[in-house]
Amino acid sequence: MTETAAATRSAEAAVPLLEARALTKHFPVHHARRGRRRLAGARGRGRPAGVPAVHAVEDVSLTLPPGGITAVVGESGSGKSTLALMLARLIVPTSGQLLLDGTEVPATTRGRREYARDVQLVLQDPFSSLNPVHGVRYHLERPLRLHGLGGPGASLDGAMTGLLERVALTPAEQFLSKYPHELSGGQRQRVAIARALAVRPRVLLADEPVSMLDVSIRLGVLNLLGDLRERDGLTILYITHDIASARYLADVITVMYAGQVVESGPAEQVTDQAAHPYTRLLLSAAPDPDRGAPPALAGSGAPPSLVAPPSGCRFHPRCPHAMAVCADTTPPPAEVAGGHFSACWLHATGLAPAQSRPLRGSGTAAGQPPDAGPAPPARPAGPPSPATEGGEET
Ligand code: SF4
Repeated sequence: MTETAAATRSAEAAVPLLEARALTKHFPVHHARRGRRRLAGARGRGRPAGVPAVHAVEDVSLTLPPGGITAVVGESGSGKSTLALMLARLIVPTSGQLLLDGTEVPATTRGRREYARDVQLVLQDPFSSLNPVHGVRYHLERPLRLHGLGGPGASLDGAMTGLLERVALTPAEQFLSKYPHELSGGQRQRVAIARALAVRPRVLLADEPVSMLDVSIRLGVLNLLGDLRERDGLTILYITHDIASARYLADVITVMYAGQVVESGPAEQVTDQAAHPYTRLLLSAAPDPDRGAPPALAGSGAPPSLVAPPSGCRFHPRCPHAMAVCADTTPPPAEVAGGHFSACWLHATGLAPAQSRPLRGSGTAAGQPPDAGPAPPARPAGPPSPATEGGEET
């Protein structure tokens, strides 16, 4: 390879395939009697002054490198699905930028079909994402025809059977004639993935693709996603609440809490040496057959209201290490190791005594590692928590 070609290739690798910059989404809260007018003004980027809003996603930046698997992890209400819908351009961000191949994607409906060809979304629920009155053939034929792919007659049939074979639904000819009610949950999810692959996307956004499946078939679908990356170079965003499955599948993990990114980095680093108290809470809650004692949860309480999110660090009402500064000021992301970031004041140095005063009687001083607290990290072991080795749907 010439030096110029090598330089070009390295420059291409440095440009993320898909990138979100400071994406924010606020959903206006409207009341039935007076909501119609207010909602009309809130559909686009702005919203009328004085209308309360759900701060679903706040200032989230994310990069998807070509051929990589990135996991976004968080509990319900953390904003991860809203983030996926913005990345799929199914909802319009309140602010922020979306870039494909380093070029900003305009926030208009123009070009939506071209974008959908590159970026496809697989939804969580395979029982409602397929239309029950149509068979598998219809679900695969429609995107092929809409995008002018597949060709006529036998060639179209070949394209559809090829898609089913890619997701390991064989013999493909038999599956083509089936209806959704004749398929298991795992088979339906594979059909949904095949439908997404029909337009030959470069990015697959998988929003909790295994959470509604029986535990015995989750590993099969996760392995399918891994195969698609290995075999076809697909770039995948894997959204989940299960940090163990994220470690199993992904190269990079981004942890979200209450609409914000709190930690991100290489998957093993984030799970072996979690730096943020919320990540440690998630790890404590992850099933681990090697753990003898029941998990000691480092934190308490429920996720906050996103209509009036907590000031400063949004985790501070639940955090056992909360300090005075945490309730006042949002912590900036700090690099705790190579490529491993955590947004927590515990990593700050030089806080004034008044700032590092424990908020609730006990806590960890700034500059101390968060593992000085009551909950040791619980690394999820190997495969995802369902313990489904060898599991596959019938
Ligand atoms: Fe948030 Fe403070 Fe707890 Fe860090 S120590 S997670 S900044 S409340």
